Amino acid sequence: MTTDVTKTGLESAVMGQERITVDKKSIINCRSDVNQLCPMRYDWAWKKYLDGCANHWMPQEISMASDIDLWKDPNGLTEDERTIIKRNLGFFSTADSLVANNLVLAVYRHITNPECRQYLLRQAFEEAIHTHAYQYVIESLELDHAEVFNMYHELPCVANKAMWAMPFSQSLADPDFSTGSTADNQRLLRDLIAFYVVFEGIFFYVGFTQILSMGRRNKMVGTSEQFQYILRDESMHLNFGIDVINQIKIENPELWTQSFQEEVINMIKEGVELEYQYAVDTMPRGILGLNSEMFKEYIHFIANRRCTQIGLNEIYPGAQNPFPWMSEMLDLRKEKNFFETRVTEYQTGGALDWGDDE
Ligand code: FE
Repeated sequence: MTTDVTKTGLESAVMGQERITVDKKSIINCRSDVNQLCPMRYDWAWKKYLDGCANHWMPQEISMASDIDLWKDPNGLTEDERTIIKRNLGFFSTADSLVANNLVLAVYRHITNPECRQYLLRQAFEEAIHTHAYQYVIESLELDHAEVFNMYHELPCVANKAMWAMPFSQSLADPDFSTGSTADNQRLLRDLIAFYVVFEGIFFYVGFTQILSMGRRNKMVGTSEQFQYILRDESMHLNFGIDVINQIKIENPELWTQSFQEEVINMIKEGVELEYQYAVDTMPRGILGLNSEMFKEYIHFIANRRCTQIGLNEIYPGAQNPFPWMSEMLDLRKEKNFFETRVTEYQTGGALDWGDDE
């Protein structure tokens, strides 16, 4: 296997170059022109791009008026509830920026397929919208920007998750790095698993559940609605990532060695530990009918699902979902990927309508 530089699409156009055919396309290490979207090989990536566009929304479309009133009312929320809001804004306000930077600066160059790049461009914009949404909530509630945006440097449960993910991204962002050898292809696959499966697929779920629980109890409904829209997008990011990971495995079976699988299992276990600690630290006492033990079960349930999605055995056999309302509303209905079944349920416009099933 060669280790020469992966084609970026910025090479000079050459007259008389051979036409691209579907069989020459590949997710990584494609040696043909990567500027030609058609003919398409990966229809699922294009479909997700279209679905992402159909789900377009903007944070200012959601009223924050009742949240502002509740936040300002000295008797409106308990200290524990305020902690949940602030710490989640602390985590997410920088987390989606980390994901965007990983996509644009580390991953994009090495994914050598235009259908997938089309989705990555859409996803990158969605990450910007999410960062915008957190900023909009922080501004609406007049929170201390410096405190919130620095939690990923200063508050261990937030910082630990960010610090866990950074090395994967930094490794790929090295301008001298290119895929080609088995070890380097594994490096890319490892980063994809770290960000799509662990970061977006596990690290987001305690916070989403906490905020959506408040919304279900009619508290901070604007913030909760922002998070619902974000989670709808995130479900698709996760599905896309899983499809890409599985397609890379199909095209490069030599990467999925026993030792690599063990490494992935360890990454997922580390992610589970960090997410559990996050649940404890954001919610030191039981609140809203939730407690950290329920979250431990939930994180195990989610981690099992992630394992199955990328072809690994479940790590926590028998883990149940203590929040079936999350599953009904957010996880299962949206987390259909190409390798399981086709997505059937997407909005045709920007409106959010998940019904009010509990
Ligand atoms: Fe995302």
